[in-house]
Amino acid sequence: MPKMLPTVLGNLVSKPATRPHPYRRREAFARARGRIIFDVKQCVFCGACALRCPASAIRVDRNERELVFEPFRCIICGVCVETCRRGCAQMIPHYHSPAYTKPEEYYRAPVEVKEENQL
Ligand code: SF4
Ligand code: SF4
Repeated sequence: MPKMLPTVLGNLVSKPATRPHPYRRREAFARARGRIIFDVKQCVFCGACALRCPASAIRVDRNERELVFEPFRCIICGVCVETCRRGCAQMIPHYHSPAYTKPEEYYRAPVEVKEENQL
């Protein structure tokens, strides 16, 4: 016990070795491959990203103007980001939160609301 005393006292005054995740998140490293998001306002639903995605993580329905993304299929290769000429597919340095299920993310074209006098 006396041999351990300096260690015990040192631990009492030192900072914790771990972070209280998720309340305090670690800053991402430079050029970290976090996750893919889509800026649907820029999307024309051409389907090019879905065609080139090696993991089949993207589905695009041009008629419904809808893009469905499966983040847990995504291997974060960045091909969709390189493919999308409109800058809609973006890679951000924040990781996806863990989940018990494999959710799909739906991106739909914004519905245009017309003023009554424009109808
Ligand atoms: S994200 Fe880009 S490449 Fe994919 S459907 Fe939209 S505009 Fe096309
Ligand atoms: S990063 Fe790669 S795997 Fe993920 S959606 Fe884009 S093309 Fe598919």
